[in-house]
Amino acid sequence: MKKKGFALITLVLLLTLSACGRAAVQNTLDFFAMDTIMTFSAYADKSLLEGARDIVADIESRASTTLESSEVYALNRDGGGTVSAETAALLDTALTMCRATDGAFDVSIYPVVRAWGFTTGEYRVPSFDETAALLEHVDYARIRLDGRDVTFPDGMEIDLGGVAKGYAGREAAAYLREHGVTSGLLNLGGNVQTVGSKPDGSPWRVAIRDPDNEQSYAGVVEIRDKAAVTSGGYERYFEEDGETYWHIMNPATGRPARNGVVSATVVADDGALCDALSTALFVMGAEKAERFWRSYGGFDMILITDEGETIVTPGLSYTPADSAAYTLRTLEP
Ligand code: ADP
Ligand code: MG
Repeated sequence: MKKKGFALITLVLLLTLSACGRAAVQNTLDFFAMDTIMTFSAYADKSLLEGARDIVADIESRASTTLESSEVYALNRDGGGTVSAETAALLDTALTMCRATDGAFDVSIYPVVRAWGFTTGEYRVPSFDETAALLEHVDYARIRLDGRDVTFPDGMEIDLGGVAKGYAGREAAAYLREHGVTSGLLNLGGNVQTVGSKPDGSPWRVAIRDPDNEQSYAGVVEIRDKAAVTSGGYERYFEEDGETYWHIMNPATGRPARNGVVSATVVADDGALCDALSTALFVMGAEKAERFWRSYGGFDMILITDEGETIVTPGLSYTPADSAAYTLRTLEP
């Protein structure tokens, strides 16, 4: 009698588990999207991971700057147009971050990024005259988004690449949560998005790469249900005449941002915000970034500077690696 009751309870439990899409085992799905390898891993049926992947693929097919069939491609070709509700929502998120960061993050920086060769890999150092001319067309404030209608001036081009991966991670995580998943780790090419915690309830541990040593990590941050996104000068760069030029641009100068931050990590609920802010804080430099953190709020950060300092906000659980030689400074609340 007792045994039967137990079996019944087990069955009911299994049914509820599968009804909300959870699986007893961890499944993993690797795929290529948005120019990078993504690895989605969750205690969920494989079909749910595939659903999450399809969300990423859908966002990419709308927002790619290079796919001729994408909505962003059409906007750049025509100087505007009417987009889908999905693309309007992504653009709205991106423009919100441009405004919040006062243009340190600017979706209209694309022509400048291209002039430096970062879109093709044919790297070059453009002249000051050339970047000055291109900067005439860089100004997110001149992009109009009215419902689903977009307009911007001739010569302007937009690129949502600085926010798309974070946005895609956020949407993929939301989909998994809606289907009852409570434990997942989504790696979108270095953008980490977590769903819930580890199956045993402990937080996910995310390693932050050591900007001085690509084989090693600078520290580990523990997060639950949040995203962690890092922008680093080491991700994509080239060297010419002893100078290093990387892919994160200062929209004020049209040149790679060089304000002392070599790695900026943002931790928050919203992956899109993390993605845009990691780029923006890298551009701002440590002092401005600290001021921005105090005024804007709602996120945590880990900044590594070229003077060997790691600056961490007090809300984070961050453990520096023994091997990494950075001085840790935790900001006052
Ligand atoms: P990654 O693309 O390697 O994940 P980021 O998230 O830091 O790196 O985004 C950098 C990309 O965003 C660049 O490749 C470039 O296309 C674009 N970008 C560069 N500087 C800026 C900027 N100041 N504002 C918005 N986008 C930028
Ligand atoms: Mg970014």
